[in-house]
Amino acid sequence: MADGPMDHPGYHPLLLRQLRKAGLAQPLSQATARLAALVGEAYHEQDRERRRNDRAMTLMAKEMTVLAEKIRHQAGLDPLTGTANRTLFRERLREAFAAAMPEQRVAVMFVDLDGFKLINDSIGHSFGDQLLCDVGRRLEGVLRDGDTVSRLGGDEFTLLLPLIYKPGEAAFIAARAIEALERPFVLDGNEVLISAAIGIALYPDDAEDGDGLLVAADTAMYRAKEMGRGHYTFFTADMNVRLHQRLLIKNRLLKAKGRGDLNLVYQPKICIRTNRIQGIEALLRWQDNRLGKVSPCDFIPVMEEMGLIADVGAWVLAEACRQVRIWREAGLESGRMAVNVSARQLRQPGLIDTVINIIRQTGVAADDLEFEITESMIIRDTESATHLLDEFRSMGIHIALDDFGTGFSSLSYLRKFPFDIIKIDKSFIDEIMSNPDDVAIISAIVTMGHALKRRIVAEGVETIDQYDLLKQLDVDDIQGFLFSRPMTPEDLAPLLKQGECYPRPSP
Ligand code: C2E
Ligand code: MG
Ligand code: MG
Repeated sequence: MADGPMDHPGYHPLLLRQLRKAGLAQPLSQATARLAALVGEAYHEQDRERRRNDRAMTLMAKEMTVLAEKIRHQAGLDPLTGTANRTLFRERLREAFAAAMPEQRVAVMFVDLDGFKLINDSIGHSFGDQLLCDVGRRLEGVLRDGDTVSRLGGDEFTLLLPLIYKPGEAAFIAARAIEALERPFVLDGNEVLISAAIGIALYPDDAEDGDGLLVAADTAMYRAKEMGRGHYTFFTADMNVRLHQRLLIKNRLLKAKGRGDLNLVYQPKICIRTNRIQGIEALLRWQDNRLGKVSPCDFIPVMEEMGLIADVGAWVLAEACRQVRIWREAGLESGRMAVNVSARQLRQPGLIDTVINIIRQTGVAADDLEFEITESMIIRDTESATHLLDEFRSMGIHIALDDFGTGFSSLSYLRKFPFDIIKIDKSFIDEIMSNPDDVAIISAIVTMGHALKRRIVAEGVETIDQYDLLKQLDVDDIQGFLFSRPMTPEDLAPLLKQGECYPRPSP
């Protein structure tokens, strides 16, 4: 007699139940036990098969989600709400401009949701996501065929109305959108309330390009918000765009948590005599969801004003040094790495320690670094600036005087301050072919600079004629689009491998 089935821990529970049902819970004969073992194995195999299928299904479901997201993205849709994404919005905007007849207007509206952040933070992101989907749907509900709702990111929605004959039509739709968003939303059985402010800008009245129109709509939106909840307003010329742009940048910088949207691009400086890459300048870039690419000339002063520049500047230096290491480990020589140091940064206590720490941590030699400083920075506080620059130089860091010619351009500074390099500003280079005075000035700077043993760099060289003339004038290095635009590290790598850089033929 074989053992009873209950003693067989390997028996499948379903088989045990069947055996009990058949009254076979008693010890089994050997033949029945063998048969039962075979049936049991079949049950187990079935289980294994089911698990395999489950796994395959889970994998397939995951792949389907990724694929659906990709397809939506390619179709220009925002993966969360299914409304247009930024790329599609811009494309439709271009199409609308191209198709607009003289009697027509194109309206762009910025929708600001009041209360969304609170809901997102208090009742959770999945409800926040749900709310954004509902907002997208309600906005779509008030638009006409051919109009577009787009989510630029976060809780930022824009509306595009390509066919407007009278501003009143845009006002009507804005009012309906506000009304639609003020109706309670139901999330998980709870009613929640938000409100909206809308800014409206019209093409071609308020701006003639996409970026300008978006800034105008955004500016109007801020004014609408100032008016209180549930308002819309049109852009008007008296809204000071420049001031508002600064405010916008400030607001966006506050929103940008961390430094996720900042990155560096690199532009080579080339020796005019040998065409060898002398060094690289690191230039900061910021891409914002709403504002798009913002020029460092616009956001750096705001960062200074907000007291963010010390942190960001330290990040720039560390990131540039890290890049030097990466290139070096890949066998690429980038020459000296130049970073721009802003006025506020120079006045920041602890700057020297920060620099020493970064050099230590990244293992890049001080001699491989160059700080680009503009004249205006040293004018304000000559004594402490001299002291700081001397300190950097004693560490081995090279100092360049950037944008030379745009400030006071006092030649005595060249003697007084410990600069190793003088960078002649692009504004002089722009005019050298047509303005003999500029040629004379550059020639004087070169002569004097060389007498003081400084290296002279020409910035912003764009044409071969400028290059030829600068060569005659005995400038040492060249930087400009003629040779290379600022590039990502990956794009720059082949040039570094080559070690040399030549003028690119004009398009
Ligand atoms: P900069 O240091 O004088 O940099 C040169 C600027 O001229 C760069 O503009 C560069 O892209 C541009 N450029 C170079 N060659 C040409 C050319 O052939 N044609 C034209 N049209 N432009 C050319 P970018 O990157 O927009 O930077 C503007 C300024 O922002 C810089 O002027 C610098 O003062 C500041 N900046 C950039 N990155 C940083 C940073 O990391 N920290 C600080 N403090 N300032 C920075
Ligand atoms: Mg510079
Ligand atoms: Mg410059």
